[in-house]
Amino acid sequence: MNLASPASLDFNNTEIAFKSKSDKDLTQAYWLFKMVSSNMLIKIGTPITNFSLNIGLPIQNIIKNTIYKQFCGGVSIEDCSESIADLGKGNVTTILDYSVEGEDSEASFDQTFQEILKTVESAKSNPLISFCVFKPTGLGRFDLLAKIDAKEILTTEEQEEFIRIKYRCNEICKACYEGNIRVLIDAEHSWIQDTIDDIAREMMEKYNVEKPIVYNTYQLYRHDKLASLKADFAYAKLQQFHLGAKIVRGAYMEIERERANEKGYPSPIQKNKAGSDTDYDLAIQFCLDHIDKIGLMAGTHNEDSAKLLAGELSRRNISNNLPNIFFAQLLGMSDNLSFNLASAGYNVAKYMPYGPVKAVMPYLFRRAQENTSVGGQTSRELSLIIKEQQRRKKQK
Ligand SMILES: Cc1cc2nc3c(=O)[nH]c(=O)nc-3n(C[C@H](O)[C@H](O)[C@H](O)COP(=O)(O)OP(=O)(O)OC[C@H]3O[C@@H](n4cnc5c(N)ncnc54)[C@H](O)[C@@H]3O)c2cc1C
Repeated sequence: MNLASPASLDFNNTEIAFKSKSDKDLTQAYWLFKMVSSNMLIKIGTPITNFSLNIGLPIQNIIKNTIYKQFCGGVSIEDCSESIADLGKGNVTTILDYSVEGEDSEASFDQTFQEILKTVESAKSNPLISFCVFKPTGLGRFDLLAKIDAKEILTTEEQEEFIRIKYRCNEICKACYEGNIRVLIDAEHSWIQDTIDDIAREMMEKYNVEKPIVYNTYQLYRHDKLASLKADFAYAKLQQFHLGAKIVRGAYMEIERERANEKGYPSPIQKNKAGSDTDYDLAIQFCLDHIDKIGLMAGTHNEDSAKLLAGELSRRNISNNLPNIFFAQLLGMSDNLSFNLASAGYNVAKYMPYGPVKAVMPYLFRRAQENTSVGGQTSRELSLIIKEQQRRKKQK
C-alpha cells in the first residue's frame, strides 16, 4: 500500500515534469505556447488553416512539426509507440484516443469503430496503455443523437442507424470487458448527452458487475451533473453494478451558452467558474465516499483539484495507487501535474490523440482556443517551460 504524503507533491518541479523533453523540444514548446496565446493569431489562423488544407496547400508538414507534435502521438497506433514509451519512462500511462472528428458517413463511423477496436487490441498487449476511449459522435451521426435527445419520432432508416450506433458502442465495451481493459465514454454537447448517458448506463449495467470497466463522463460545468452522478450511483447500487465516473469540468461552455441564448432556454452551464469548481470538488468527494463501488478518473489540469484529490486520499487513508483512482491529463498539457503525480506514486494517464493530420484539426483547434484564454493554461505552461530552461542553463 502506497500512502506517500501529498505534502511531498511539488507541481513546480520542472525537472521531473520535463525529464523526457530535450532542450530543442522545450524551445519548440515555448514558441508554440507563445503563438497560441495570441487570440488574434488563433482567430485568423483557424479559418486560414482550414482553407489551406481544403484546397490542398502543402501545410501538413508545418502543422505536423508544430501544434500536432505538441498535442498528438502520431498518425497511427504504431506511430504513437515512441510517445507511449516516453510517458511510460515517467510512470505515466496512455489512453489512445483516435481523434477523428466531424465525419458524417456510415463508412467513416465503421472505420472509426474498427480503429477503436485496434486500440483495445493494443491495450491488451501493452500495460502502458491503461484505458481505451471513444466519443459517441465518432460512431454515429450527431444530428441523429440530437433528434433522439429531443424525443423526435425516427424514420425506419434512422431507427436502424441508431441500432448500428448502439451495436458499435456495445462491441467496443464488450471487447474491453473481455480483455479486462477499462473504457471511457467521452461527454459532448448537452443536447445529445441524455442519449449518450442512456447508452453509457446500459453498458455499465452490462459490463461493470464485477468491477468498473465502462466509465461515463460527468461535466461539472453543468449545474445538473452532480445530481446525475448521484442518481446514477443510486441506480448502480440498486442494480448491483459498479459506476465508472470520469469527472471533468467540460469543454463546450461557449457553444452551450450561445445555443441556449439563441434558442431561448436556460443555459445548462453554471453561473460562474466558482460554481463549476465547487461541484467538481463535491463530485470528487462523492466518488471517494463510495470508492469501493466507483471507478474514479479525475480529468483535469487544475492544480487545486489535483491537490484536493491527493490530499483526500491521504486524509482518508486510501492508497495512492488504488486501481479505482486515476488522475488524467491531455498529452502536451500540464506535464507538471502528470509527471509529479506519477513520481509520487499516484495512477496517472494521459489522453494521446492520434490520427491523420487533417482529421484531428477540430481537436487541435479546440486545444489552441482553450490555450488563448487570458490567465488560462498557457501562461502557466510558459512560466514552467521558462523555469526549466533557466534551471538547465544554471546546471551547464
Ligand atoms: C483527461 C481529460 C479528459 C477530458 N474529457 C472530456 C470530455 O469527455 N468531455 C468534455 O466536455 N471535456 C473533457 N475534458 C476537458 C475538460 O472538460 C476541461 O475543459 C479542461 O480540462 C479544463 O478544465 P480543468 O478542470 O482542467 O481546469 P480549469 O482551467 O480550472 O477550468 C476551466 C474550465 O472551467 C469551466 N469554466 C471556466 N469558466 C467558467 C465560467 N465562467 N462559468 C462556468 N464554468 C467555467 C469550463 O469547463 C472550463 O473548461 C477532458 C479533460 C481531460 C484532462
